[in-house]
Amino acid sequence: MADHPRYSRNVALFGQAGQTRVAASRVAIVGAGGIGSHVAQQLSHLGVGALSVVDPDVVTTSSLNRLVGATPQDAAAASYKAVIAQRMCAAILPEMRIRVVTAPLLDQGAQEAILACTSVMSCLDDDAARLDLIAICCRNGLPFFDLATDTGGSNGNTWYGGRVMFSGAGERCPLCMDLINQSALQRAAMSVDQLEVDATIYGVGRDDLNASGPSVVSLNGVVASLAVTEWMVWTTGLRSPNALVEYRGSVGASFIGNDAPRPDCYYCRMWPTQTATGF
Ligand SMILES: [Zn+2]
Repeated sequence: MADHPRYSRNVALFGQAGQTRVAASRVAIVGAGGIGSHVAQQLSHLGVGALSVVDPDVVTTSSLNRLVGATPQDAAAASYKAVIAQRMCAAILPEMRIRVVTAPLLDQGAQEAILACTSVMSCLDDDAARLDLIAICCRNGLPFFDLATDTGGSNGNTWYGGRVMFSGAGERCPLCMDLINQSALQRAAMSVDQLEVDATIYGVGRDDLNASGPSVVSLNGVVASLAVTEWMVWTTGLRSPNALVEYRGSVGASFIGNDAPRPDCYYCRMWPTQTATGF
């Protein structure tokens, strides 16, 4: 199917061999929300062979400002975000194999769906879950792109943007690149009892706090497009992917990060010594 006329404009950029590599790819999208829905849409148009979409969350009315493919009827029905992604991707590319998991990341079915893939797009908005996914990828030698948007500041000094980080062979991860916030690190080290105490102190779960922050469709779309472009150049061999791309929406520009990872990273050390990396 990689030589289908629908891909002629892709082939014009990265060649028939590149399109064949795209079609042979199986990609796990972990988090099918504001960022992941864009990624799912774009990978379908690119012609990826198979997707695993993992997300236990359902659509709410407040998701409709940014969730690609979601309708008010989906919010009323509390449809799973992963199912909405499946519906959208199947409409774009009916022959694509799509595996949907509406269970949490640490559920066995979710991990099996991820490990069935050749690369991972981490589109999570919770750093504690992000650490769990990094561990799964590193332990199993699975190349991953980590995507995030972030906002901050106040009183006229608001900043907003995002970033994309790539790890193809355990050379870096969001932890050793200092991209994980400290409270998530503390939570990752907590027992279940400690997490309950933490939730009690803060009144609501940190996830709920995250969910109430700013999240805007265009910023998510830029970060998703940067990530899919890095995935595309890596998969097709068009060029080497960047280790880190930062998007600063508040100044309207993207920058390539040059910081070296901290050595001897707990997560990156898990990477198997002999793995196939990409193609
Ligand atoms: Zn690391």
